[in-house]
Amino acid sequence: MDDCKCTSCCSCGMPLDNKSKSKKDSCYCLHCQDQESGKLRSREEVREGSIKSAMRIMGKTRVEAAKMADEMMPKLPRWQKKEEKEDDSCCHCACD
Ligand SMILES: [Zn+2]
Repeated sequence: MDDCKCTSCCSCGMPLDNKSKSKKDSCYCLHCQDQESGKLRSREEVREGSIKSAMRIMGKTRVEAAKMADEMMPKLPRWQKKEEKEDDSCCHCACD
């Protein structure tokens, strides 16, 4: 495991601190990576999670929240890769 210096999750953009950081991969948060298997959530699952939290935390409508997620996700390192790899344990963010 390489110890990257990400301050926010490379998959969903949520701020990382000692509580929210994945124990398996320091690029990701607890929500994006299964803490037992190390498996990462799919793009669709991450998108859905972002929509739900924007609705809950910011009081957005579903349409507004979906628009935000669709604008934000392409900017995150995990989704900038050209090809989808089977083993997605490293997000290839700029800090590693
Ligand atoms: Zn995340």
